[in-house]
Amino acid sequence: MDAPIDPAHGGRDMDLTRAAEKLGALEDEIHHLYEHVPFGSHALDAQGVYLDINSLELSWLGYSRQEIVGKRKLTDFLTPASRLMLLRHLPAPGLNNVIADLELELLRRDGTSMPIALNSVGFADAAGKLLKRRAVVFDLREKRQNKIHQLVAAQAFEGLSGTYITDSQQVIQQVNHAFIELTGYSAQEAVGQTPRLLSSGQHDTAFYQAMWSALNKYGRWQGEICNRRKDGSAITLWLSVSAVLDAAGAVTNYIGSFFDITATKAAEAELLQLAYFDPLTRLPNRRLLLDRLTQAQAVAKRSGLCGAVLFVDLDHFKAINDTRGHEAGDRVLVETARRLRAAVRAGDSVARLGGDEFVVLLEGLDEKALESAAQAEIVAKKILESLAQSYQLDDIEFHCSASIGIELFADATSAVDLIQHADLAMYQSKAGGRNRVRFFDSSMQTQVLGRAALDHDLRHALELQQFQLFFQPQVNLQGQIVAAEALLRWHHPKRGLVAPGEFIALAEETELIVPIGLWVLETACAQLKDWEGQARTRHMRLAVNVSACQYRQDGFAVSVQKVLSASGIDPAKLVLEVTESMMLDVPDAIAKMNALKALGVSFSMDDFGTGYSSLVSLIQLPLSELKIDQSFVGQLGADASVGVIVRATIAMGHALGLEVVAEGVETQAQRELLVKKGCQRFQGYLFSRPVPIEAFEALLPQAQ
Ligand code: C2E
Ligand code: MG
Ligand code: MG
Repeated sequence: MDAPIDPAHGGRDMDLTRAAEKLGALEDEIHHLYEHVPFGSHALDAQGVYLDINSLELSWLGYSRQEIVGKRKLTDFLTPASRLMLLRHLPAPGLNNVIADLELELLRRDGTSMPIALNSVGFADAAGKLLKRRAVVFDLREKRQNKIHQLVAAQAFEGLSGTYITDSQQVIQQVNHAFIELTGYSAQEAVGQTPRLLSSGQHDTAFYQAMWSALNKYGRWQGEICNRRKDGSAITLWLSVSAVLDAAGAVTNYIGSFFDITATKAAEAELLQLAYFDPLTRLPNRRLLLDRLTQAQAVAKRSGLCGAVLFVDLDHFKAINDTRGHEAGDRVLVETARRLRAAVRAGDSVARLGGDEFVVLLEGLDEKALESAAQAEIVAKKILESLAQSYQLDDIEFHCSASIGIELFADATSAVDLIQHADLAMYQSKAGGRNRVRFFDSSMQTQVLGRAALDHDLRHALELQQFQLFFQPQVNLQGQIVAAEALLRWHHPKRGLVAPGEFIALAEETELIVPIGLWVLETACAQLKDWEGQARTRHMRLAVNVSACQYRQDGFAVSVQKVLSASGIDPAKLVLEVTESMMLDVPDAIAKMNALKALGVSFSMDDFGTGYSSLVSLIQLPLSELKIDQSFVGQLGADASVGVIVRATIAMGHALGLEVVAEGVETQAQRELLVKKGCQRFQGYLFSRPVPIEAFEALLPQAQ
């Protein structure tokens, strides 16, 4: 600049000019000096606009001097956090006008950031007004890098966790050996990429959003993440990511550290499978079913569409297990599971409760219960049809029907109750002859409650001596009593005298029939012993009923033998009444009968004509008696075909050398018809109802 020249003061002007020249030279010198120092340097005016900047600092920023000097401010090149930081550290006017080693983040032209340390001094005039600031700026990149190295070293030595370090933009800067081993990527491949390199695409954006919001808020996130190795294989990681902050609280890096939990996850999945699925059929188990049922009920309540629970139970499955072994039984169950799945829609659930019990859960049927019931019934029938198809086990063909009980639901009642209702309806299907479908109705419920109470009482009936045997005579053509059938009665403290029809089935189910049956046998043998001692009863035979459950027991023959020898009676006086279905349900039924026959006892086929025994099996059985079922006797005279059957049965029985007894003879007319068809032995109300021993003995002719 040109100095003003005052001719009157020429000497002073000369001084000023020299001083200005000196100053300029000094400025040049300083400029030159700052141009060659190994740190950044700049000068700013009072507004923070660049007055001057050295080449090194320019190179950091990536701009030319012309673009900056007189035009831009330092704060234009700071990250928002750093800008705030600087403002906070700018000394108030008049105070010690120095900023020392303030760590800031420069924003460079290429968008990357760079850590620096700023040192500056303010120059003020005599009035204390800030004229300009001069600064020296240090590059902290190396220092930061060292810090990262330290962190990596610390992490890497921590154990086997894979570790990566990114910059604030998530660009991977460094990985450790475990990272390379676990992911299959080399350090060269990973550095420069973001962790998305490992993404499996299995997580949705919400997952990553949650991760980032935790990182932004707490500086840390950890959780399970499904990733992919370089070779494409899946890897489940337990990943923890931490943000590294600078002194100003801005993120400079992220450190991710992870463990491979793929194997743990697999074990966990296996445990889950065990806890919620049946290992044999891989179907959901009871626990999972209850879960699903509860959900289905909630959905039904919202949608207004009914659902249905189908309780499916295989008929006579135990026989397969008993006769062919458990391995065959298992195969039938697996096949049943497959057929059930195939019979329902993909959205419906099929579960196995255990044994041969399955439950099918149908959802979204209809708004109306009636329509829903019809739909459920169609599915149930389809299932019955599919299950009735033969099962091929190696070279053996099997048939195994099923019984189904259905309960509809429209809202959230107890899931356990629903299953119980369906179970009950299934039970009714079985009672109704198997291979059929029944819906639950509330009268069944009353029955169940009654049954539960009955079961409770039945358990104590033996010890409380509430049982009694009644005796019903069997008479010959002449009307003489030649034998008796012992029929069980229960003196219930509240219900009074309970007939076996009300409790035998329950006792069979709970296997209480085993001790009860033993008591019957002992009591009957004691009675026979008593009769043996009297002339008028010495000839009398006594029949006792044996249930399938009793007969199935391994120790049955032994226990009969024990009772026989303990009582000391003539075994020929004891008749065991068995049924046709027992011969099918119990494995080795014939062998067992032969073993018992060897003890001297005889067998009677009870309720003949209601089961499925073939003529062939009748011939094979060591029977001495057939009892024509009372349902035939009751229809005699009313239905001509019954007459034909009864006649044929009597003829066949006699041809096989068997005694034939007609049961349930109530009228004289029935007796006469039976006599005409060749029957010679009768039992029924016409002669006497079953009565206590005293009353029975009163029917006998008095001793002479
Ligand atoms: P069941 O062995 O067929 O016995 C004959 C049933 O017919 C008896 O019923 C008898 O009271 C009834 N009855 C006899 N004559 C007539 C008649 O003229 N008309 C009608 N309507 N019924 C007649 P109960 O005593 O109620 O026994 C029912 C069933 O309970 C028996 O049928 C038998 O299967 C079973 N049961 C009875 N006692 C025992 C027992 O000690 N052990 C086992 N396991 N079952 C038993
Ligand atoms: Mg009987
Ligand atoms: Mg009978």
